[in-house]
Amino acid sequence: MAAASNPTRTPIFRLLTIASSGIGSFILGLWGLRFGFGDGLASMQTGTMIAIIAALCALASAGAALSFFAGVDESADYVFKETHFDKLTGLLARPAMVGRIADAASATMKTGEPVFLIDIDIDRFKQINDAIGYSQGDELIVAFTSRLKAAMPEGAVIGRIGAGEFAVLITDREIEGPLESAVEKLIEKMMEPYQLSSHLQSVSLSVGIVAMPKDGVDPVLVLRRSNLALQNARASGVGNWSVFHSDMSQVADYRQWVESELHIAFDRGDFDLHYQPQLDLPSGRIVGYEALIRWRHPERGMIPPMEFIPIAEETGMIGPIGEWVLRKACSDARHLPEDCFVAVNISPVQFMTKDFVGIVRDTMASTGIRPSRLELEVTETAMMQDRDRAAAILRQLADMGISVAVDDFGTGYSNLSYLIDFSFGKLKIDRSFVSRIDTDSSSGAVVSTIVGLSRALGVSIIAEGVETENQATLLRAAGCEVVQGFLYGRPAPLELGEALTIHGTRERRVANLH
Ligand code: C2E
Ligand code: MG
Ligand code: MG
Repeated sequence: MAAASNPTRTPIFRLLTIASSGIGSFILGLWGLRFGFGDGLASMQTGTMIAIIAALCALASAGAALSFFAGVDESADYVFKETHFDKLTGLLARPAMVGRIADAASATMKTGEPVFLIDIDIDRFKQINDAIGYSQGDELIVAFTSRLKAAMPEGAVIGRIGAGEFAVLITDREIEGPLESAVEKLIEKMMEPYQLSSHLQSVSLSVGIVAMPKDGVDPVLVLRRSNLALQNARASGVGNWSVFHSDMSQVADYRQWVESELHIAFDRGDFDLHYQPQLDLPSGRIVGYEALIRWRHPERGMIPPMEFIPIAEETGMIGPIGEWVLRKACSDARHLPEDCFVAVNISPVQFMTKDFVGIVRDTMASTGIRPSRLELEVTETAMMQDRDRAAAILRQLADMGISVAVDDFGTGYSNLSYLIDFSFGKLKIDRSFVSRIDTDSSSGAVVSTIVGLSRALGVSIIAEGVETENQATLLRAAGCEVVQGFLYGRPAPLELGEALTIHGTRERRVANLH
């Protein structure tokens, strides 16, 4: 590594140091000759002798001074590079970014011009990295970096502050148009798939924004707040962004609490499964039950899955929890009517883990459930992360005789070409279309289109979230005959020994269908 100049030592200072060590050594050499060698060197002329030794001493000490400076500079430069720049991308590393935020904060306090800190995080990067391998993960980060640099104006300061997390400092002046549309454009661009050497990788992002000086000027606090905004954006779905708001601190405390409680809850056995029936309208027959996890905390009561599943996914707790759900649902199936299947929700993180198919196989073997009685519900996002891997997993499941339903269909990926490559058995129309089917004609049109699509693909169809008779009638008219929703039964615990095993289902069925 080339020695770089340390700015704290000016050239004059260096020159003086090297010269004074030379002169000092010269005098020392002279003294040494006079008193050390005495008359023993009589054969050589004293003047010559003094000159030679003094020159050698001066040279050696000046060299020593020079190499001292070079060595110190080199190590200072090394430490500087190590701590200031991210090796993989060459972007600023976190400590350097903190410094830049401090600089920007003092500038904004002087000029009053707002500066934004944009925190951009690749969702579930750790899981992606585990699934595709570290070298492909690195490739993804490098490709992401060059796209991010290209998307940003020249003056923006960009840093890599976590494995899949990036921060951008940008002044108000540098943002083209309103912040809102600039951020949305950025997210859209950054979420286009990345061509890696082995496959096309899709990613989803979450973005948090803090405005300085409005939301603070302390760099550590500003970074914490941008991350809070990011967590908030992540909780509201794929490719979202949010601007920091003071309420977010409370949300963060709750999130922290959930994270720390999940382990304890799992070991203590707080979790249970509730089941919601799925009904075939023409025959009035229950064809299956969806297993839905419930967390009853001894002090806080019921905690909804939407509040803890995303945290379990981020922390890795979804592994043991998901496995427990699968095992419990498969073993509960023996208490359900023989002709009914059990549908189990599979998190995208779980679906993409290396041994997912193996876990399903082991669970089936240990619980003895027939493959035709198990259905897995997977969202589009899960399958889009790595299409080739997802296609292979779906094929293996299909070969095992297990049906996969695409959950929340219509809310995720816009490119439908994946439907042709993937082996799945069912589309599950999202509740958002069903809830508006009787008031909004375009929702009705979407439902009819999805029904048409399912027929063209030769797969089954089900609608979720049916709450009114009117919705059921319209769904049936659109060609969707299997339904699930509060109208037919809320998720309820399994009550062993009852004729129909799900509390309340028989009465509802009679009330609604006869
Ligand atoms: P999902 O798989 O789409 O499940 C349907 C959700 O809609 C359930 O909410 C259900 O209680 C609710 N629902 C059913 N019918 C109606 C209706 O008529 N009206 C309304 N308003 N809601 C209805 P829940 O149980 O809170 O679960 C929410 C989400 O949490 C699930 O959405 C699923 O994504 C996730 N989840 C639940 N259990 C599990 C699990 O065991 N594993 C995983 N990975 N995710 C789960
Ligand atoms: Mg589901
Ligand atoms: Mg759903």
